[in-house]
Amino acid sequence: MDSPFRWFEDRLRQLEEEGLRRSRRTVSPTGHGWCRIDGRHVCDFASNDYLGLAGDPRLRKAARDAIDDVGTGARASPLVCGRTDWHERLERRLAQFEEADAALLFPTGYAANVGTIAALVDDNDVILTDRLNHASLIDGCRLSGARMRVIRHADVRQYQRELDKAAGARHRLIVTDGVFSMDGDVAPLTQLAELAERFDAWLLVDEAHGTGVFGHHGRGVCELLGVHSPRLIRVGTLSKAIGAQGGFVTGPQSLIDWLWNRARTQVFSTGLAPPVCAAALRAIDIIEQTPELRIRLRHRCEHVRSRLTDAGLPVPDNTTGPIIPIVIGDPQHTVRAAQTLFENGFFVAAIRPPTVPRNTARLRLSLSLAHSDDDVDALTTTLIDVVRSPSQ
Ligand SMILES: *Cc1c(COP(=O)(O)O)cnc(C)c1O
Repeated sequence: MDSPFRWFEDRLRQLEEEGLRRSRRTVSPTGHGWCRIDGRHVCDFASNDYLGLAGDPRLRKAARDAIDDVGTGARASPLVCGRTDWHERLERRLAQFEEADAALLFPTGYAANVGTIAALVDDNDVILTDRLNHASLIDGCRLSGARMRVIRHADVRQYQRELDKAAGARHRLIVTDGVFSMDGDVAPLTQLAELAERFDAWLLVDEAHGTGVFGHHGRGVCELLGVHSPRLIRVGTLSKAIGAQGGFVTGPQSLIDWLWNRARTQVFSTGLAPPVCAAALRAIDIIEQTPELRIRLRHRCEHVRSRLTDAGLPVPDNTTGPIIPIVIGDPQHTVRAAQTLFENGFFVAAIRPPTVPRNTARLRLSLSLAHSDDDVDALTTTLIDVVRSPSQ
């Protein structure tokens, strides 16, 4: 008899033929950015652990102490009884770190984006959203029911035209990644903040790849560009440079109070595990007190970027920071290049549609302070060989 799920089997086979079927690997981190995958020891350039904090002994100890204090789980939604002293301390610390009135924790960065956007606007409102925004922002926009205007990547003039047209809407919300996650470039936040002011809009910036990495204190792209606006809502994740897990939003007190009343991904989901909060608290101290981390990371990024560019690799020239895309185009070629790198001991992500637009499949290199200089140099040399090789 035919399987009742035959439809999916056919679809999966089709994905396979197009080079779009995904595979998952089981990874065991072994320290210094190395890990064991499928029995092979490889250096991991696919993670977002930009500062190498995910394996840091100080974060491990903080998490262990929290487990000894209150156990492993938060036990309930924060609104019911799942908000411990650890959560309260972390929210206060995040608000202080980002120089905002208040902060609110979410189970993940994904949940923070979806829940926040859906709680802010509805079908009386208009959202302006960059075409390359992260999936969690897109999903939040869709769920909100607001009218969506998809803007060509970082096109300030199109933002302006669409804001002008949306003058009759009740609210206008501009939604953008701070650093674009698959492209590594930075949003034109200074101009967007000006437009928000001029057109009476709110500006939501997703700092997932900015926090800990950009700005003197590590507050993100808003700090880097000196963007201060009373119209700003910032979303962040604890799972990238911060090395823990979870999402957060910072902004004015009234907004945060509204969100803890109304953001469904926060109201109807269990609070973060306390050891995760403790690890994040420790990481924020380290991030704020050690600007040298960001200087070292910046030097590393500049060094690798210039080696790749000098060798003629297709690295877009508007990128900055630890995300370096090498745009190959064809998904099969991209997967083959990633496979060759893997066989040479380097784990680099092959990013394909639908994560990126068609014909822009790419290798996405993610640099981190977890690695040694030698490992970074070896990766760069191999990457240049593999991408230039005629079999590609
Ligand atoms: C990773 C990412 C998120 C989601 O954060 P998680 O904490 O991993 O759920 C949101 N936005 C962007 C731009 C991201 O890259």
